[in-house]
Amino acid sequence: MLRKERVESVDQGINFMDSIRQGRIAHRWGWSAGGVRWIVREDLCERAESHPLRLGTVRGRTYWLYDNTVYSTEESWLTASDVLALLLERENRARAKVTRAVALMDAADEPRPAGRERIPSEVKRLVWERDEGVCAECGSESALEYDHIIPYSLGGSSTIRNLQLLCAPCNQSKGATIR
Ligand SMILES: [Zn+2]
Repeated sequence: MLRKERVESVDQGINFMDSIRQGRIAHRWGWSAGGVRWIVREDLCERAESHPLRLGTVRGRTYWLYDNTVYSTEESWLTASDVLALLLERENRARAKVTRAVALMDAADEPRPAGRERIPSEVKRLVWERDEGVCAECGSESALEYDHIIPYSLGGSSTIRNLQLLCAPCNQSKGATIR
């Protein structure tokens, strides 16, 4: 409904009529967009940084200046508040899209599928060597498992520092205390 226009050029000049009336030099800006050169007084340009300024209607499209950008719309009946609401809604949608994209990217960086993570065999070998093939809790040599000290589900990684050997009974009782 609201289309962003390519601004072909912006130039500043002196508004002689205003200057004569006000007894001081009044500047104005020439905005070229949509094949039309819109002349806008400097103070209105400044105001349009936060409030949409209706430039005019040409060939069925109504042009608006907002935050140094020209927009056009087919609806000539929109008010400045309508245009502002549409622009803010668009901005919010864009921001939500970025938030989702960043979340997806993080998820891709650190895949956390449900269940257990496969521990690389080289890491397993080094943990086994460090723990000398016995349970880190009770020293048992049977039914040994690789245990994430900080649980995988809580963000613990499969690094040598975060892994230890535990026998099945010790691992089960640890699991019970964490939950
Ligand atoms: Zn044990």
